[in-house]
Amino acid sequence: MNAAIYVRVSTDQQAEKGYSIDTQLEACRKYALELGATNIEEFVDNGYSGAFIDRPALTSLREKLKKKLFDVVIAYAPDRLARKTIHLLIISEEIEKAGALRKFASVNFESTSEGELMYKFQGIVAEYEKEKIKERTMRGKRGKASKGLVISNAKPFGYLFDPEKNTYVINELEAEIIRMIFDFIVKEEMGTARICKELNARGIPSPRKKKSWIVSSVHRILTNTLYKGIIYSMKYRYEKIGLNQRKRTLRPETEWIPIPVPAIVDEVTWQAAQKQLQKNKDFAKRNLRHDYLLNGLVTCAKCGRAMVISHSGSKQLISYYACLSQKSSSYLYSDQEPCTARQVPTKLLDEYVFDYLMELCNNPAKITEYLECIPRNKDIDKQQAALAQMIKAEKDLIQQKETVLRWFRQKMLTEGEVESQLKEIRGQLLDIANMKKTYEAELAAASSSSSSPAEIVATIRGNLYKENFTVQEKRSALQAILDRVIVERVDHTRGRGSRPEIHVQLKLK
Ligand SMILES: [Zn+2]
Repeated sequence: MNAAIYVRVSTDQQAEKGYSIDTQLEACRKYALELGATNIEEFVDNGYSGAFIDRPALTSLREKLKKKLFDVVIAYAPDRLARKTIHLLIISEEIEKAGALRKFASVNFESTSEGELMYKFQGIVAEYEKEKIKERTMRGKRGKASKGLVISNAKPFGYLFDPEKNTYVINELEAEIIRMIFDFIVKEEMGTARICKELNARGIPSPRKKKSWIVSSVHRILTNTLYKGIIYSMKYRYEKIGLNQRKRTLRPETEWIPIPVPAIVDEVTWQAAQKQLQKNKDFAKRNLRHDYLLNGLVTCAKCGRAMVISHSGSKQLISYYACLSQKSSSYLYSDQEPCTARQVPTKLLDEYVFDYLMELCNNPAKITEYLECIPRNKDIDKQQAALAQMIKAEKDLIQQKETVLRWFRQKMLTEGEVESQLKEIRGQLLDIANMKKTYEAELAAASSSSSSPAEIVATIRGNLYKENFTVQEKRSALQAILDRVIVERVDHTRGRGSRPEIHVQLKLK
């Protein structure tokens, strides 16, 4: 067993009391023999401060350590090796790397508070090393990214991955579909739901393999910078939060690294698409709140289902009340034929109903006419049938939801796919729940007795009390008075010069 002994005294004898070279050497030699050393080499720094690591004997010891010449390095006390913790750590690490033990003759160093502190420091150093490695890998990733190389080999829709060049190449077939989607929104100003419908109607394969297009897939394509030729690396930070769970947070934009990829659409088109998306969003919001006076009140006279807002025209600017069977995806995908009722322009019906009620208000003789409009008993059967249909559709959807979740558990669907599927189902369930409520209310109302003409006039007058209404005031007045508006379009004219004719029945609350 080869031992190295290191001893040191500084010039400041006062401070080094009890640390004479002889004392140190004696203790260290004794300890070396106790440890079973057969060869001992001594390194003596006489007159050197422990504050610096650059000492001749120490340097020579460290060089020999590199050659792994010793099994143990003995010093009298830690401060002989170095006075600064960082130096002590460096030397300790070198001893350890050389496969040797570090021992102190004067104290059982490991059990002193100083020793404990050393251990803690070593822990910190290990931690620091880990950080350094992590940082190096990130730097590698960043380096790769800044050289324009794609890191992930996940193949996005529209591209193939070239593993040799670490880059994406355009998949012309899929790229054509992407260009079509951008055309739909930019040139024809379609909304995402409409685009979905068009794509599905044309039988165009979706990124979800054999399944149909859904709004979220279209939206994702339209908002992905990939298609204008840029992907961002280092956009997200991932943290491990569980065994198989990672949390994803967006990094500040300054940290993102753009990587150029072949573009499928140009910048101008891409920006135009973003603008149109925002426009659609604003439009939808506006519609939802105010524009339609009777939204939620209209019933299809032909089949008894609710009628919902629908848009048409090249810019989707003309709105209609349309029978739900023609609009809701829960009907579209069922085997039932949609109802043939024609759509009714919202403007026409809104104005008609409002004017009619004003008239009723000013001319109570008309009340008798109104009373004849109350749905007769045969409608109750229709309502009940419709309600039963709703309940069945609801059950089917709940089952569908369970299937989706089961597939997810069996890893047949990704989290993203499940999310969009569930969102779709949730939306449909909400639709159905709303419709069920109206049908139930209607059935209850149909079996209860109706109000007297005087009461009706009072209700209408109470709400339509003023001359000039804002759209919002009109809407809340109508919603307060009316329970149902049952409508059927009866003319057969079409196109530009068409003159829609409608039959309307009103049910007051
Ligand atoms: Zn209908």
